[in-house]
Amino acid sequence: MSDSPGDNHDLRSNGDDGESLRIRGPIPEELYSFYEDRPFKICTRCGEGLSDFQEGYRVSKIFRGEEVIFEYALCLPCLRSMFEESSEESKAALMRFQMERFRFVTGFDECALCENEREALPTQEYGLVGICFGEGLAESNLICGCCMEAMSECVSEETRKGWDRFVEDNFPGVPADFEPMPLAQC
Ligand SMILES: [Zn+2]
Ligand SMILES: [Zn+2]
Repeated sequence: MSDSPGDNHDLRSNGDDGESLRIRGPIPEELYSFYEDRPFKICTRCGEGLSDFQEGYRVSKIFRGEEVIFEYALCLPCLRSMFEESSEESKAALMRFQMERFRFVTGFDECALCENEREALPTQEYGLVGICFGEGLAESNLICGCCMEAMSECVSEETRKGWDRFVEDNFPGVPADFEPMPLAQC
């Protein structure tokens, strides 16, 4: 009777420092799968249905100007295990980088980690990231190409290779110089 997956409003009730993610609205079309022209349905890594994950999932789309270079959705367990597979040093460096730079801005108008605005990036790469629950959006950020690069530089080569493997496995032909995990749960 109360099995409906749609009415779980208490999204992160495990008391992680008091700030739980709330759904702000529907998933914006910019975070839809470009290839399927609808919200992502399955996790790019494990293939499980995303609506089954009450903890939510993360959509990432990398653009160059208006063009989508690639896109993926990761359920939280996959996101976590990719993060866990990173070396301790890389994890610490990433967390530090994000904590130092995160500007507590939300949405797609400006970079969450520096003052670059989207309008100033007409031909450059940038990533759009959204934390979603079912068909709802809880959090969204833009990360400019410079910040993605800076993030990728602060992790070890081994960690970067692990990320590159994810890209190679899932997106043959895509240049692997990208950073797949901006804002691992700030
Ligand atoms: Zn998954
Ligand atoms: Zn930036």
